[in-house]
Amino acid sequence: MKKIKNAENLNELCEILNELDESEGVDFSNLPTFGGKEISDTAEVWSWDETDILIYDGTWHIEPRCDCGEAAFNCNCDENDVIGCLGYKGARKSLKDMESAIEKGAKSLANEEMVDLSDVAD
Ligand SMILES: [Zn+2]
Repeated sequence: MKKIKNAENLNELCEILNELDESEGVDFSNLPTFGGKEISDTAEVWSWDETDILIYDGTWHIEPRCDCGEAAFNCNCDENDVIGCLGYKGARKSLKDMESAIEKGAKSLANEEMVDLSDVAD
């Protein structure tokens, strides 16, 4: 318990938690946080600092926050705007690349529709 309160950063807290004995009876809902914007959806988020969040799925580990500041698995950036937070991290695509990607997408969509129509005909 004392060790957790003395953790100086998110990495240290993560290490302490991973070394914890289950019998130590820790209040996981009350872990210290290390600054940065307050997370508004703390589901599955146990602690955070400016850039990262602490999560648990069998072991404790640290994952970067989404660009919006929330946990990437809790925010809706992907759904609201595909080019949103994730797109800017990747290599920038030229307009031509985008156009050919859209064209390919349109073609595969058209193919699917054709399959659907033949299914109906059967
Ligand atoms: Zn986001």
